[in-house]
Amino acid sequence: MTDRRSLELWARAQEVIPGGVNSPVRAMAAVGQNPPFIKSGRGAYIEDVDGNRYLDYVGSWGPLILGHAHPEVVKAVQRAAEKGTSFGAPTEAEVLFAEKLVKLVPSLEMVRLVSSGTEATMSALRLARGYTGRDLIVKFDGCYHGHSDGLLVSAGSGLATLGLPACPGVPEAIAGATLSLPYNDLESLASAFASHDGQIAAVIVEPVAGNMGVVEPKPGFLAGLRQLCDQHGALLIFDEVITGFRVALGGAQERFGVLPDLTTLGKIVGGGLPLAAYGGRREIMQRVAPCGPVYQAGTLSGNPLATAAGLMVLELLQAPRVYETLEESSARLYDGLGQILAAKGLPHCGQRVGAMFTYFFTAGPVTDYASAKTSDTALFARFHRGMLKRGIYLAPSQFEATLVCLAHGPQEIDAALAAAEETVKEF
Ligand SMILES: *Cc1c(COP(=O)(O)O)cnc(C)c1O
Repeated sequence: MTDRRSLELWARAQEVIPGGVNSPVRAMAAVGQNPPFIKSGRGAYIEDVDGNRYLDYVGSWGPLILGHAHPEVVKAVQRAAEKGTSFGAPTEAEVLFAEKLVKLVPSLEMVRLVSSGTEATMSALRLARGYTGRDLIVKFDGCYHGHSDGLLVSAGSGLATLGLPACPGVPEAIAGATLSLPYNDLESLASAFASHDGQIAAVIVEPVAGNMGVVEPKPGFLAGLRQLCDQHGALLIFDEVITGFRVALGGAQERFGVLPDLTTLGKIVGGGLPLAAYGGRREIMQRVAPCGPVYQAGTLSGNPLATAAGLMVLELLQAPRVYETLEESSARLYDGLGQILAAKGLPHCGQRVGAMFTYFFTAGPVTDYASAKTSDTALFARFHRGMLKRGIYLAPSQFEATLVCLAHGPQEIDAALAAAEETVKEF
């Protein structure tokens, strides 16, 4: 699939960039592909440097819920750029943006803007520790919360895709302050609280897991986390970097009706520019400097281009029927793919929440990281290559989500289903 210009750039990239990429899964190694180099995107489509066109179901790994180069977002960024790209001083757009987040996401009373999801989760943990005066953090196996030291413990997609168990360079003292437990398992959390009484600062969770492939919270799991955290004086952090503005306008906390103490947001909120946020209850957020003693800063935080893009995206997402449309397109693609895999008799087990889903190539059920890992990744790789050959660009890993966006109309859904039919014929 990879043509001359992409192959040439790929060779040059590997000379000057580790592995040729600036984020590991882009290398497509897990599906035995050389990555096409992308030149442009519009709506649901991207084009590579050799002129091949693909129907994109990655959407820059989540941010592009409106599709590529949405004209209103492009205009907003252009208008902002003409007035200056960064001031390192307060701007009106930051206030408008923060007010909008507080209005739309149920648990937010105050937010701090940062530049990446990694920075948001890292800062939320520091705040949780500063607020509670405790050191331990609980996360769940297969959940990814960015690449900060304390969160690279059993961290899902990227590491799983590359088959890496743990990360050299993370001191044991830091990894040791993170307890990683099975997702969807309240009993193991209850025993962790029992054996580390008064030491756990926070429990951080992807309220719908997206980074081991999509795994839904079992009924009662999120409410159970809330209850255990309250009972033991720990903060509950929802990492909504992927679910925020995707599974509902107010994120997973709105969809499932469970409110965390702190929330991290990224991806969609920045409209494809580097912007993320963490926020929560006023009393906790007031511990952040300069209001309180927990230090966190950023030269480009609240950047004018990023807040302009983000504001426009959030405005457009408030239009009528946006989330109904996403739900319908996503269901149509998910159901259609399920029928195709079933008709061919392939082992599969799917999970979908709103505009994110995964088919695991295993009989399942998949409820956590251990069961997700029973998937046949070689079969997934064949499926991925077959789809790419037919112009359908999927996330190059079994442990990722297919992300449906508003640019995927009936024609795009049908094209993906037709390609899947043809692909499984070869199996
Ligand atoms: C992508 C992601 C992150 C990391 O965000 P970056 O902007 O890549 O640093 C954190 N948490 C979750 C749930 C994510 O999906």
